Amino acid sequence: MALIEIKHLKKYFNTAGGTLHAVDDVTLSIEKSKTLGVVGESGCGKSTLGRTIIHLTPPTAGEILYNGENITNQSPKAFKKLRVGMQMIFQDPYASLDPRMSVFQLIAEPIQTYKMAGSRQALERRVGELMDTVGIAARLKNSYPHELDGGRRQRIGIARALSVNPDFIVCDEPVSALDVSIQAQVLNLLQDLQEERKLTYMFITHDMSVVKHISDEICVMYLGQVVEKCASRELFKKPLHPYSQALLSAIPVPNIHIEKKKIEMKGELTSPIDPKPCCRFAPRCPYAGPVCFEQQPELKCCGNEHYVMCHQVKENSES
Ligand code: SF4
Repeated sequence: MALIEIKHLKKYFNTAGGTLHAVDDVTLSIEKSKTLGVVGESGCGKSTLGRTIIHLTPPTAGEILYNGENITNQSPKAFKKLRVGMQMIFQDPYASLDPRMSVFQLIAEPIQTYKMAGSRQALERRVGELMDTVGIAARLKNSYPHELDGGRRQRIGIARALSVNPDFIVCDEPVSALDVSIQAQVLNLLQDLQEERKLTYMFITHDMSVVKHISDEICVMYLGQVVEKCASRELFKKPLHPYSQALLSAIPVPNIHIEKKKIEMKGELTSPIDPKPCCRFAPRCPYAGPVCFEQQPELKCCGNEHYVMCHQVKENSES
C-alpha cells in the first residue's frame, strides 16, 4: 500500500525572466516501508519535489496524498499535526544545525516543540535513546556541532528526524557532503533504521552508485520532469531513457581492467523558464529526431512497471 501518492504535482516560481518550472507535472507513489530514489543533476527539481511533498513550500498545482488522505491544501496549523509523520534529513548537516546549540539541545528541540516528553527525565531518557540509536556516544551530549566531524553531525540530523517517530523521511542528499568511508556508515544506519522502524524514504541524490544500494524504485528527473521510473534493479539492468543511460555510463567501475564507455552529453541545457512543449533533453540527446523538438513525449509504460518519457523508446529498447 502506498504511504505517499502525488498526482500531477507542479511547483513553479516567478522570476524576472519568466516562470521557472521546478517541478512539472510529476506523478508517483511510494509504498510503505520502501525507498524511492530520486536522481538527476543539480537543478533538476528533485529537492524542490521533496520539500513540496512535506509542505516546506506550497505546490502550484496537483495533489499530495499521505496515507490515503489528501493533504495538498492543509493550512500550516492543520499540517502541524501531520508534520510529526513527515520529516527531512538535509544535505549539509553543518548548515542545518544551529551552531549555538549542544547535541542534547539539538535532539531535544523537536521533542519539546511537539510536547512529546512529559518531564525533564523523560526528555533526557528519550535524547539518550536517540543518541544510542544513531551511534553518538553519550559523552558528546554537551558538545557543539563545530566540535564534531561530518558523520556525527549528520547523525544528529538523523536523530532529530527520528525524534518525533515519523513514518516518512525525505533524505535530501544526506551523504553527499561526507567522506566516502563515512558515507557507507550513514547509509548502513539509514537502512538499519528503515528495517527496525518500517520507515518509508524518498532518497534524493545525484550519485547513481549511492541510489543503487538503497532504493527499491528509482525516478530519474530531468528539468522538473520524471523521465524514467521503474524498479532499481530494472533501471541498472536496462535503462531506456537516453539521459538515464548517460548517467549510468558515468558510474566508475572498480576494476582497472574493465574499460567503460562514458556517454558524453553535449549540447546546451534547455532553460527551465517557460520551457517549450518539446522533449527537454533534445538538445543533448544523441538520438533526437525532428519530432523531439516539436512535441512533448508522454511518460508511457513499456511493461514491467517501467515508465519512460521518450518518443524513440521502442527503437532504443530494441537496439
Ligand atoms: Fe532523445 Fe527524442 Fe527521446 Fe527526447 S524524446 S530523449 S530527444 S530520443
